[in-house]
Amino acid sequence: MITFYPGPSKVYSQVADYAQEAIRSGVVSLNHRSAGFMDIVKETRRLLHEKLAIPSDYHIAFVSSATECWEIVAQSLTVTTSLHPYGGAFGKKWMEYAHRIKPMIVPGEADVLCVVQNETSNGTQVRMDTLAQFRREFSGLIAVDAVSSLGGLAFDWSLADVWFASVQKCLGLPAGLAVLIYSPQALKQAEIIHDRQYYNSLLFIHENMAKDQTPFTPNGLGIYLLMRVMQQVPPISDVDELIRNRAADWYQFLENETGWELLIQKPEQRSDTVIAVRGREEAIRAVKADALKSGITLGNGYGDWKSTTFRIANFPAIEEWEIEQLKSFLRTY
Ligand SMILES: *Cc1c(COP(=O)(O)O)cnc(C)c1O
Repeated sequence: MITFYPGPSKVYSQVADYAQEAIRSGVVSLNHRSAGFMDIVKETRRLLHEKLAIPSDYHIAFVSSATECWEIVAQSLTVTTSLHPYGGAFGKKWMEYAHRIKPMIVPGEADVLCVVQNETSNGTQVRMDTLAQFRREFSGLIAVDAVSSLGGLAFDWSLADVWFASVQKCLGLPAGLAVLIYSPQALKQAEIIHDRQYYNSLLFIHENMAKDQTPFTPNGLGIYLLMRVMQQVPPISDVDELIRNRAADWYQFLENETGWELLIQKPEQRSDTVIAVRGREEAIRAVKADALKSGITLGNGYGDWKSTTFRIANFPAIEEWEIEQLKSFLRTY
């Protein structure tokens, strides 16, 4: 089965071997405060810095999900409340989670700006020049949800203080782990707020990470698989080029070689990693069912576009032959 689902998405094909390796070698049974395990944590962070070109003064921590990162930003980094300029279902959900913790009582006094870089629900993205504009105009911290683009696109990390992603989308790994990246400025803010109330308070996580440890028993298998995948992938600038070329091809193909309509009309708003295709409800239902018969899983629509779109993940774990197979299917459809 070939899958273009945007999350959980196709895992790198090598992950099957890496998982077997982790179990056979006993990595998954290592105590998480042992030297062997701490070496894996340390090496995984080193590789993330290297392969994703993350600035050396930005910190990296491992938590469980992007949803958890939403709460960490609200609990540990937000003084008054946060501002959420969103354009889709995940952005809205983030705002709802954050405002349950730090309600917006007086509009305009927010000290954290929360941006979803790639809105998985409708296939739109916030480009680096827009983020740069936010950076110029907003004096507080900026937090970026990059769940469906981190690992696929090159970012200007300096444009935000917090970046995070769970690993089951663009990073091509099984769910249950998230990467949380934060700047020295974010850490300073956490120290001022001094939240130590929760098991996942950022300061508590940070102090553990300084020892290559985590507050609770982490997803050791997930961290090991992330390390192995980071060893295997090319530098992010190369991956970025591949993904942008593939995205341009996809949009060109859908517009010129099929009768489908793109959900997002303005090319500059279109995502490079999640492509949303629009159609009549019956046509969408039929194409998904027929694709399944051909061994291809298309992504369902999400939220408001549940029944009138399908989505195509354009993540680096997806291979050229799989893309060709979906194109052949869509050509004849
Ligand atoms: C999937 C997704 C999430 C939620 O990720 P979890 O790992 O389930 O917490 C958050 N934001 C975006 C943009 C997503 O695509």
